Amino acid sequence: MIKIKNLEFERGSFILIAGPCSVESRKQIFDIAKNISNKIDIFRGGAFKPRTSSTSFQGLEKEGIDLLVEVKKQFEIPIISELMSIEDLKYFNDVDIIQIGARNMQNYPLLRAVGKINKPILLKRGMGNTIDELIKASEYISRGGNEQIILCERGIRTFENSTRFTLDLSAIPVIKTLCDYPVFVDPSHAAGRKDLVIPLSKAAKAVGADGLIIEVHNDPANALSDNLQQLDYNLFKELISELEKVIIWKT
Ligand code: PEP
Ligand code: MN
Repeated sequence: MIKIKNLEFERGSFILIAGPCSVESRKQIFDIAKNISNKIDIFRGGAFKPRTSSTSFQGLEKEGIDLLVEVKKQFEIPIISELMSIEDLKYFNDVDIIQIGARNMQNYPLLRAVGKINKPILLKRGMGNTIDELIKASEYISRGGNEQIILCERGIRTFENSTRFTLDLSAIPVIKTLCDYPVFVDPSHAAGRKDLVIPLSKAAKAVGADGLIIEVHNDPANALSDNLQQLDYNLFKELISELEKVIIWKT
């Protein structure tokens, strides 16, 4: 059971997480929250960003977390953000769910550290990792005493290059045979293209995902990170209405 103030869920739920790739400014994050917070369960926003290039925008760091916490208070919505380094854990006291990103799925000291805290952890599958390695990585967290774990499929690297990664839809029912944790899907990072986010979200829900994590931006074309995959408000509205048509596959 995942427990956050005013929100409890377990496998079999359908939880919607959405928000921008990166927290960029107070104006940006409040505009996005104003437009989407009443349609979602949890608000996302990256403050410590794992960017491929060291010269790309690296996130607002502590200031980004502080802005997210302001959104949490103003809109009364739980928040999730990515932790990259143990030394930043001190900034995450008011963050409801800690995300461990794909690039840190096998950062064992980090996994051990979040295993000792009393807060849900969303653990993303590494882009080059098997399901077995994901499950074993989750055991570094649970062994420390923290059983509040959500696993997240976010696409793996294959020979296919028309999408950023390849969303492994079979991972969802496979993971469900191996553990009891909720299994979420991130179609935004998997596809890397906004036009695929709605169909992949529907497919994920149909195949049994317990939740989705979606990137939404007030002005995607000018986003400081992941500008090609973030939904604008119109596409986000379309996503919500399309998801309502999908029947959840109970596994
Ligand atoms: C993210 O969700 O902001 C992110 C960087 O995702 P991933 O770790 O899946 O690449
Ligand atoms: Mn992103």
